[in-house]
Amino acid sequence: MRKRRRKKRRSNKKFIRISQIMIGIILVVGIIIGFNQYRINKDKVVYSNDVANGQSSDSDNQSNEVTAANDNKGVPVLCFHSISDDPKAKSSIVIPKDKFKQDLQAVKDYGYTTLTIAQLNDYLFNNKPIPKKSVIISFDDGYKDNYTNAFPILKELNMNATIFVISSYLDGQVYMTPDEVKELSNYGIDIESHTFDHKQLSTLSYDEQYKELKDSKDSLEKLIGKPVTAIAYPEGKYNDDTKKAVVEAGYSMGFTIERGYADKDDSRVLLNRICIDYTYKPSDIKKVLENLRK
Ligand SMILES: [Zn+2]
Repeated sequence: MRKRRRKKRRSNKKFIRISQIMIGIILVVGIIIGFNQYRINKDKVVYSNDVANGQSSDSDNQSNEVTAANDNKGVPVLCFHSISDDPKAKSSIVIPKDKFKQDLQAVKDYGYTTLTIAQLNDYLFNNKPIPKKSVIISFDDGYKDNYTNAFPILKELNMNATIFVISSYLDGQVYMTPDEVKELSNYGIDIESHTFDHKQLSTLSYDEQYKELKDSKDSLEKLIGKPVTAIAYPEGKYNDDTKKAVVEAGYSMGFTIERGYADKDDSRVLLNRICIDYTYKPSDIKKVLENLRK
């Protein structure tokens, strides 16, 4: 009888000791997690990157510190054209699908947030903060393959983009159909202007330039039901008349293909971009995002 009681007491003591150890472990782990959380909250302001259409952030698992509103860190505006595996379409501005996906994956892996045109405009001209690592992915011309090849990759990687469309070229063959443009816009891709007829603006009179710019803005706005606020100049060509006509036609931003970041020192109608061709490797993408040099 006494032996059994002693045995029982011994097992009770053992149970209490194990319980104490377990509680100790839970407390220590709790303190470590709590401290880490405190450190993260203290050091970082996490930017909410909800794009215009309410998509979730393209860098859900990463935090990206906010740039102070008065900081003039430029934003790389990458410029792509056609995304295609078609061997007939060989040209330096045609990038195969897999390569394009690697390029975008690199942008994402390096922690960059894809901005909308409105976010870039607010940062440059209205002193709104943006994530320190911000980028714009843009396409010129509105090729059909932007819809068939680039769009699925953008969706898969949850990244935003801007397409500068030539508004009279929407033939559904080489270029997108009006319905495809509308679908992209409804998804949240920014549809902006690349003029009405892709004429080199610097060869035109002021009135002709104004018409190219205004007709394109009006027809695209009618199509997508949203304001069109940015223009990319065909072949990057412009002159003094262009700068005036762009503002007169109601645009708030004009993009060249002069290599550089879009920053607050740029004129709002001469914003720099960085054209990406098929020679770029993912490591080159990182270099241009960080210091412009490939
Ligand atoms: Zn073009």
